[in-house]
Amino acid sequence: MSATVDALLPLSFLEAVRHVDSPEEDFEAELVSDLRNKRLGLSDTVYNQIRRFTDAVKRRQRTSHDEAVALATLIGRRPDAEAVFRAAGRYLAREAYQSISPLTRRLLLVLPSLITRPIALRHTRRLSARYFNGRVSRIGSNIFLEVGRSVTAGSAQRSVGCAYYEAGLKEMLRLMVNSVGGVEHVRCNTRGEGSCSWRAEWRPTKAE
Ligand SMILES: [Zn+2]
Repeated sequence: MSATVDALLPLSFLEAVRHVDSPEEDFEAELVSDLRNKRLGLSDTVYNQIRRFTDAVKRRQRTSHDEAVALATLIGRRPDAEAVFRAAGRYLAREAYQSISPLTRRLLLVLPSLITRPIALRHTRRLSARYFNGRVSRIGSNIFLEVGRSVTAGSAQRSVGCAYYEAGLKEMLRLMVNSVGGVEHVRCNTRGEGSCSWRAEWRPTKAE
């Protein structure tokens, strides 16, 4: 069986393009505009894909890894590729976060971090596995996200595509435990290091 990704991953790319290109417009009304599609450098086919991926997300279906890579490559050609990848990462994190029950989300933000950190780590691990095909581990006060088969690494020059996972991890931790610590790309497949890995500091702003 060929590799798959959660349908939310390719959908996050397309939603980010829509968001970055016209943050204040009515997206739905604009979808059919040829002019707009040309401006985005994306074909009508891609817009049909938005609908298809949205349906797949609702049905919790996974989609082809290669198809997600093809979309990432389209974004990688844009001069603002990094901004789009960052927006896409944040979109995916927000949607993934919404899959956690409202009660748990609330408790994560109000209980002391001594209690919430293990819970947040468990959710980060689960969501990263499902949506990023990534592995999360904790060493001391750092969290590591490792992605063996990055969708975005080969999509743009240098490690621009890697901003996707970096922004996603940062947003996920911010939402869950209000972490404002930095996220550092410590290992990169584009440098021939086999996989991509990010280190995040657990630094909740509320009292310990
Ligand atoms: Zn990388």
